[in-house]
Amino acid sequence: MFKKVLIANRGEIALRIIRSCHELGIKTVAIHSTVDSDAMHVRLSDESVCVGPPQAEKSYLNIPAIVTAAEISGAEAIHPGYGFLSENAKFAEIVEAHGIVFIGPKPEHIHTMGDKVSARNAMKEAGVPLVPGSQGPLSSENDLLKLAKKIGFPLIIKASAGGGGKGMKIINNEVDIKKYYNLAKYEAKVNFGNDTIYAEKFLKKPKHIEFQIFADNYGNVIHLGERDCSIQRRHQKILEEAPANILNKKERESILHIVVNAIKNIGYRGAGTFEMLYEEGKFYFIEMNTRLQVEHPVTEMITGIDIVTEQIKVAAGEKISFTQQDVTFFGHAIECRINAENSLTFNPSPGEIKTYHVPGGIGVRIDSALYQGYKVVPHYDSLVAKLIVHGTDRKQAVSRLKRALKEYIIEGIETTLELHDIIINSDDFINYNYDIHWLEKLITSRSK
Ligand code: ADP
Repeated sequence: MFKKVLIANRGEIALRIIRSCHELGIKTVAIHSTVDSDAMHVRLSDESVCVGPPQAEKSYLNIPAIVTAAEISGAEAIHPGYGFLSENAKFAEIVEAHGIVFIGPKPEHIHTMGDKVSARNAMKEAGVPLVPGSQGPLSSENDLLKLAKKIGFPLIIKASAGGGGKGMKIINNEVDIKKYYNLAKYEAKVNFGNDTIYAEKFLKKPKHIEFQIFADNYGNVIHLGERDCSIQRRHQKILEEAPANILNKKERESILHIVVNAIKNIGYRGAGTFEMLYEEGKFYFIEMNTRLQVEHPVTEMITGIDIVTEQIKVAAGEKISFTQQDVTFFGHAIECRINAENSLTFNPSPGEIKTYHVPGGIGVRIDSALYQGYKVVPHYDSLVAKLIVHGTDRKQAVSRLKRALKEYIIEGIETTLELHDIIINSDDFINYNYDIHWLEKLITSRSK
């Protein structure tokens, strides 16, 4: 096992990784920007190295500074967390070229899955059902028109190198093709440095259901079930739950069989997530994430498996320590993503935390780097906490979430705690009656 691991991230996920390392008896090296010197991940880590100024490009994305920090501190491995460099194949390659272990998949898999057109092709070949759409990149407005004639409107244009729900355009008719084709290409270039775009059928009322898989270097692949991440705003997840009660046993087993086989076929290693849309009993692949997900705790709560610990062990060359039969699923878990944003306008709300009180009691978990007196800075992602609850069934998990949300006090900044309160007290949420468009409709009706 490693003696020292560097964590190339910040915030709650850096803490999450530090915790697993410490449980494994591994020393940690935190990296931080100048504005994060007092951050909790720096305080809880055994060592820390400042890698640059506040701008992420110059610190948390600064590959030479991070690799140098690993070398001078003697870290044998780097965990990238999520976001920042976690899906950067070049970073993984550079890390490994320096004789440091990248805690994640092989660079070639990050590369293939990071490009959505190549991911679609690889998954099609591996027998995974796709959303009907373009075979490869779109090269003209006429390509899009031809596709519309073949599969019908509405369509959704996506950037092949895209992520974070950014830049997608919904195309309802021929006028929209003229309006959005060039704009989508331009935005793809500006946001992701690559103007390759493609299009898919825009599904009207799907659920976003994703499958957690895990593989080691010895061909062992297991799954940890699924998560329902349909509560979204602007294509970004806000609340997730596991399991997805909409699935019956047969549906769940047949899609998991396909997904696990696909992973075996491509020789993948580490943690990965298959994101799929589910509508009227059918699954459609949208993308694969080659990293730890923000919402991994709901899976941990219903399986009792520490996904980060398993990632570290597999990266250190160990075999997965359990079989598929050993994995048991118990109860129901829900996660609320709490952002430093106004619950109505979604404007960012940096500032000092004046009062901080976390909920507790049975079945409640908080993953957060907040503390009283901490200053939330405006430079990074607005996620400041994850409230996760577990119950013996969905009903109990929802009741637990209601009381935990009431206990949670964050003062000094605005947060989306209020939005979660509205979501979880709505009849549709209580009755598990929602699709990916549901929250947008709720938000629109509130702002009228
Ligand atoms: P990103 O990588 O930018 O997050 P994804 O392809 O994972 O993009 O899609 C993000 C979200 O956008 C999905 O969870 C879903 O809500 C919505 N979405 C993506 N593809 C479609 C589609 N074909 N039809 C309807 N909604 C979609």
